[in-house]
Amino acid sequence: MSITKNKTDELIENDRQYLWHHMSPYKENVPPTVAVKGSGSWITDINGSKYLDGMSGLWCVNVGYGREELAEAAYEQLKTMPYFPLSQSHVPAIELSKKLNEWLEDDYVIFFSNSGSEANETAFKIVRQYHQQNGEPSRSKFISRYRAYHGNSMGALAATGQAVRKYKYEPLAAGFLHVSPPDSYRRPKEQTVEEFNLQCALEIEKTIVWEGQETIAAIIMEPAITGGGIFVPHPIYMEKVQEICHQYGVLLIMDEVICGFGRTGKKFGHMHFGMKPNIVTMAKGLTSGYLPLSATAVRKDIYEKFKHSDEYGYLRHVNTFGGNPAACALALKNLEIYENENLVEQAKVLGERLYQELQVLKDHPLVGDLRSFGLLMGIELVEDKESKEPVAPSTIDSIIADCKANGLIIGKNGATVAGYNNILTLSPPLSSTDGDIDFIIRTVIEAISKVD
Ligand code: PMP
Repeated sequence: MSITKNKTDELIENDRQYLWHHMSPYKENVPPTVAVKGSGSWITDINGSKYLDGMSGLWCVNVGYGREELAEAAYEQLKTMPYFPLSQSHVPAIELSKKLNEWLEDDYVIFFSNSGSEANETAFKIVRQYHQQNGEPSRSKFISRYRAYHGNSMGALAATGQAVRKYKYEPLAAGFLHVSPPDSYRRPKEQTVEEFNLQCALEIEKTIVWEGQETIAAIIMEPAITGGGIFVPHPIYMEKVQEICHQYGVLLIMDEVICGFGRTGKKFGHMHFGMKPNIVTMAKGLTSGYLPLSATAVRKDIYEKFKHSDEYGYLRHVNTFGGNPAACALALKNLEIYENENLVEQAKVLGERLYQELQVLKDHPLVGDLRSFGLLMGIELVEDKESKEPVAPSTIDSIIADCKANGLIIGKNGATVAGYNNILTLSPPLSSTDGDIDFIIRTVIEAISKVD
């Protein structure tokens, strides 16, 4: 696609005039990257420059760009049956819910929405109503972790544990409590990783006890905190969480919006820990970002409580576009791609290589910690390895700019309180080639090596 200089200037000007960019401070003279084409792990911008998208968009384009079969699946469905509400049913939604059960390796009923936030909001409503109809009406509160992100809407943002995302938008939905994340890198010196992780899990138990177990509805967590800076729990943490949930009658909502669909080297992140969540929420990788679609998978025993009850006993939750037939048809094709190309296994293999080959960075004075979970990677940068003082934002920004200048898009994440946005993140497509991974390794090492 070739665009003239005049057209480019006009588009950039119109962007500045009319388009409100997501989660980005206004910058008068810095034009955005305007993507016009994508193929594999690479995108081309309006000026013809090519970039390897080391973040798969927003951690979602798992099968890579330019998959014509996905466009065709949506097109065929749009021609035959473009829309029908899920208060009734349609074929792609039926087939996709069955397929998701295969992926989840268990027995779930699926409620479709459009975004990760909506999938979590749906989960919160289901959980509260479930407890009401299960004879425990006082169970209304949710526990989540500081540093976690669960979405942008008033409930999902309330569950989020990142101050800067909430600042100026409060008050949010009531009834959300937060506990410490298992950030093993910043654990007290005298504790082992196991001891620290166990202590973090026990903080959940303490919160339940102090709040009154009869008031706690559910815990929501990701298998590993992703957007908050890639924190992978020790298995002992997850084991204890599951045990606490059983002991205190608290439901477990697993937010697999990023970790789902192979990103961590298994179909879903919680499978690394042998967990049995009551609810699993998912989005992003479900359609690889090609169309909006999310899902709230709810275990059958919970669903049972919505079958036989009073006149308000059914789930009074509706979402006009949730489970759009074209999005479901596309998701089915997308899942077929993961399976045919063995992308879940590939994520594991590529992730291991990325992690191993980036180990050389450990000798760099600013690299405090390297963390990975499948094809998710976090590089925590600190001024000083002893004090673990985060690097200045300008340092992170200069590394990201250097990578970009050399054709690689990477991310920055963290707690997003001032100064703690100090973690470089990588989440390339699961379909990346060995050459793509080599390019990422080379470019990141070079960019970090230039900073001292
Ligand atoms: N949960 C997690 C773990 C996420 O990373 C995100 C988005 N980054 C969401 C929920 C919200 O998803 P969405 O932006 O589609 O609403």
